[in-house]
Amino acid sequence: MQTFNYHSHTYRCGHADLDMTDEDYVKDYIKMEFKRMAFTDHCPEKNEIDKRNNMRMKYSKRKEYLENIQALKEKYAGQIEIQSGYEIEYLPGEEENLKELKEETDKLILGQHFIYDDNKQLIIFGKHDFSDKELLRYAEYIEQAMKLKLPDIIAHPDFCMLKRKTFGEIEAKVAHLICKAAEKYGVPLEINLNNIFKYTYYEKGVLNHNPIEEQKKKLQKVVYPCKDFWKIASEYDIHVLYGIDAHHKGEVVLFKELVELANEIIGKDVIEKLNFIDIK
Ligand SMILES: [Zn+2]
Ligand SMILES: [Zn+2]
Repeated sequence: MQTFNYHSHTYRCGHADLDMTDEDYVKDYIKMEFKRMAFTDHCPEKNEIDKRNNMRMKYSKRKEYLENIQALKEKYAGQIEIQSGYEIEYLPGEEENLKELKEETDKLILGQHFIYDDNKQLIIFGKHDFSDKELLRYAEYIEQAMKLKLPDIIAHPDFCMLKRKTFGEIEAKVAHLICKAAEKYGVPLEINLNNIFKYTYYEKGVLNHNPIEEQKKKLQKVVYPCKDFWKIASEYDIHVLYGIDAHHKGEVVLFKELVELANEIIGKDVIEKLNFIDIK
């Protein structure tokens, strides 16, 4: 079982639990006997491009965030290794700002939640409909970010499946492009557990502890991990890992159950072909 998680948010982004402190998350990871964790909250933007409320920390919060992580690193040294980081999106024109974020942290994970359309307007997965051309641009942005050596991990590479009804030719093409780039640049892909949590143990925004067999019945609603994506991924020489994408109380401690549910979706045959990374 994986004993690390590089995808963990904080109250600063505005949509994670406001009553969970950074230390509360650390204590949960210790309870789970994790050896390493990284805080990778939604990154602040120097140029405010994503105008949505409660999506990411303000640029002015950056220093306090990093200082708090540093204090926890020291306090819990010997018990768990704590890393600092951000979840970023790549956008052309923002390269220098993203490099700055990389320089001040241990880990950057790329969670590509949006891209620019032809008119340089932000189009967001789950909110807007994407044309085939725009879906391909999603893969191009991810590849470009890897080429620039920005991300250490690609979070939920199958996020583009939000609002898509089927996995057809274009979706397969996107999956191949991302996996091919991950192979070329040696960047691991994350099997994200957050959408599973949202539709099972955190159904309707309330934590439940129903038996796992009950939770399995709710998996049809889960968009990512997308079985078809991971089947394609298993054909490539790439590395993968699980990411909790923790936003809520009670999420980290359900890691084992969430992994079991992810494996249920992806299928044992594919899971066995995937090459999972360990702590280096
Ligand atoms: Zn989030
Ligand atoms: Zn995230």
